Amino acid sequence: MFSPGLKLRIRQELIAAQIDSFMENEPLAGHTSLGVGGPADFVVTVRSQEELLSLLEIGKTFGVRPFVLGCGTNLLFSSRGYRGLIVKLGGHFTRIAINDSLVAAGAGASLPRVARMASAKSLAGLSFAAGIPGTVGGAIKNNAGAFGREMAQVVQEVEMCSLKGEMRTFSAKDLHFGYRFCRLPMEGIICKAILKLESGEKEDILRKMEEYRRIRREKQPIGKRTAGSVFRNPPQGSAAQYIEQAGCKGLAIGGARISPQHANFIENFANATSDDIEILIEEVQKKVREIHGLDLDLEMEIVACKKD
Ligand SMILES: Cc1cc2nc3c(=O)[nH]c(=O)nc-3n(C[C@H](O)[C@H](O)[C@H](O)COP(=O)(O)OP(=O)(O)OC[C@H]3O[C@@H](n4cnc5c(N)ncnc54)[C@H](O)[C@@H]3O)c2cc1C
Repeated sequence: MFSPGLKLRIRQELIAAQIDSFMENEPLAGHTSLGVGGPADFVVTVRSQEELLSLLEIGKTFGVRPFVLGCGTNLLFSSRGYRGLIVKLGGHFTRIAINDSLVAAGAGASLPRVARMASAKSLAGLSFAAGIPGTVGGAIKNNAGAFGREMAQVVQEVEMCSLKGEMRTFSAKDLHFGYRFCRLPMEGIICKAILKLESGEKEDILRKMEEYRRIRREKQPIGKRTAGSVFRNPPQGSAAQYIEQAGCKGLAIGGARISPQHANFIENFANATSDDIEILIEEVQKKVREIHGLDLDLEMEIVACKKD
């Protein structure tokens, strides 16, 4: 944790910059879909570009690099907490505007909401995203995808703010999208994206979205505390299948278990700690390696856990 003196100075700077939506010693469990994570020194919600720039300035002054948090649906934070500044994008950064086939979405906007608004305007191309429970910024960073589609296919450009506070616009090709990742062209925060969609038949779009939702309800532990797929699918098959064949379905460590419904999901079913989840991940990787000779890579992101 930051020392009390440093916390006091950061608090004073936040107040002086008129950033009043911040919380100290804020449990991150309430900011993640897994429901795991100890207290963060500061969780700051910036509601305008001015607030974001001021926060970055404060970070620079104290030599602290803020961590951007979307909806926390792909993250595991340590139960021991997070030392530093967490920034969330609210207010101005959650706006969505649709003009013809172009959707301008703030990086803090909910991706399912963008998908719903696009469908209401008969715009096709985002049906896959209706069940991905994160923000636009998180979805771009992870090149989120489902049902054979991914963000890379709809992103036209993004506006970013560097850690030094410089605003720049990048086209999709600058983001170097890959399987569930992109390589951002500079260190910083995605503030806004322009998505290019296509006009379609509203009925077809809504039918497709409903079909995708039905498949998710059937196959995935929707409503449970998870972070989506834990491992990336290896090129030769599905991670879930390998995990199941290695006998790991239902395997539990402490309050975490491999979902009995879908083997590539970990459920926090009884107040799991980050250690429970990390040990479970290692156990699954070990068993899959023993049985299939295969190394499973993480899709979920672990933020400063064991080594903190
Ligand atoms: C039930 C469930 C189902 C899921 N299904 C899918 C699925 O079908 N397909 C899929 O791909 N994923 C899926 N996920 C995982 C997750 O929802 C996606 O990866 C999502 O895009 C993450 O968005 P987020 O806002 O929650 O990002 P977070 O988890 O908060 O952050 C993820 C990463 O993005 C970075 N980030 C967030 N915002 C910004 C920003 N503005 N600028 C720069 N970096 C940023 C964070 O620092 C972090 O590194 C699922 C998760 C759950 C819980």
